[in-house]
Amino acid sequence: MIYTEKVMDHFRNPRNVGVIENADGVGEVGNAKCGDIMRVYLKIEDNKIADVKFETFGCGSAIASSSMATELIKGATIEEAWKLSNQAVAEALNGLPPVKMHCSVLAEEAIHKAINDFRSKQGLEPWDMDESGEDLHDKVHGE
Ligand SMILES: [Zn+2]
Repeated sequence: MIYTEKVMDHFRNPRNVGVIENADGVGEVGNAKCGDIMRVYLKIEDNKIADVKFETFGCGSAIASSSMATELIKGATIEEAWKLSNQAVAEALNGLPPVKMHCSVLAEEAIHKAINDFRSKQGLEPWDMDESGEDLHDKVHGE
């Protein structure tokens, strides 16, 4: 068994699946390795993530990490949500197989894009996208 109990739970019963109509921020990312596509919707009130939903067409790890990531950022401030790393998501799932870490990067990137979408709609400068996801991807697949 390469997947933890928690990964299987979030894969079978993903939280926060769906669409938010009139979302304040939307972010979509994809990865060519598994063909995962992830879209994140944010509802933002008083600088906090009032609601979050996601749609994922992807592998089990992508679904489980999106589900966990949305649980972790719900109710958080935008700054806290921005700082959520894919490592933190993987830890909350009690670990992902190394070859599947790139799937958890998708959740982090989709949240970043959604936050920047919100910021640009407010007329604010987008924040710098973290490049660590790319580095990790190269480390996992780079040989
Ligand atoms: Zn995947």
